[in-house]
Amino acid sequence: SPRRRITGRLAPSPTGGLHLGHARTFLVAWLASRASAGGGRVVLRLEDIDASRVRPEALASIVRDLEWLGLDWDEGPIRQSNRVPLYADALERLKRAEAVYPCLCTRADIQRAASAPHEPIRLDAEGRSLTWEVGPAYPGTCAGRSVAEAAELARAGRAFAWRFRVADPNQTIVWEDEFLGPIALTPRQVGGDFVVGRSSGEPSYQLAAALDDALMGVDLVVRGDDLIPSTPRQILIQRALGHASPRFFHLPLALAPDGQRLAKRDAALKLETLRGRGVAPEAIIGEAARSCGWLDPNRPAPLVRPRDLIPLYDPRRIPRVPWIVPATWM
Ligand code: GLU
Repeated sequence: SPRRRITGRLAPSPTGGLHLGHARTFLVAWLASRASAGGGRVVLRLEDIDASRVRPEALASIVRDLEWLGLDWDEGPIRQSNRVPLYADALERLKRAEAVYPCLCTRADIQRAASAPHEPIRLDAEGRSLTWEVGPAYPGTCAGRSVAEAAELARAGRAFAWRFRVADPNQTIVWEDEFLGPIALTPRQVGGDFVVGRSSGEPSYQLAAALDDALMGVDLVVRGDDLIPSTPRQILIQRALGHASPRFFHLPLALAPDGQRLAKRDAALKLETLRGRGVAPEAIIGEAARSCGWLDPNRPAPLVRPRDLIPLYDPRRIPRVPWIVPATWM
């Protein structure tokens, strides 16, 4: 394995406490850095800019959950809500380049104007077929507007979105995924022109994450493969701002024993619930490590701490399929 020093990040959204699926994803993200030269570097970033979804008590509970698991960090917790001027500055740079335009469309407008029924994205990677539902590509209704028009809209008291102008919606964005291999997606497949901010000053997740990964020196992004449709958009933002893109490692998600996607509402699998039931963090780490192929699958998972796994970390052993959480955890 390359003994380069890797800066990675844990980037939870404080919309609720963490569950077993997060524990596994964050364990892999943490190990990818900690197993690199010199113990790597880990940044903890709390993605708390979407005020309508943030639950204030989740900020503290996420930090507690990570500490309880034995996952540590060198920098942070950094709250994105404290960095709004940086995102505003990036948006200004995009405006000066006319890389964005003001957009008045509502979700319903976009649905109505979208011509063809939208195809889900399909990717074949490592013999596995992956699909994502991303909704119709933006039909371009407001693409003729200029940055200068925004001042008039603001004077008229109209709220609008800043939409990123994709130069060529059919030009593939390619990256070599550390887990899935080469991936090529066109901006059109992931929705065409996309929102990077609001006239109120609130940046979108895409802008904040893309800028932060660049400014924080993150060179490897490990996250769930549900975020693959975001990756081409984040690469486009980084290019437009003159930043290099990190490498990406998209991991299969965790599924409940019935095959349903784990959600923060699956209270039984929340770390807080498991802690309350007397489950040891070492048991959770052991189970996650076994599911990643680093421990004997035919024996019960031993109790282990994240740092015990540093010598065992091998991303190539992680199964290419979603992790079905054993029913014993429910
Ligand atoms: N904050 C996002 C989430 O919790 C993850 C963002 C990312 O890893 O880029 O789903």
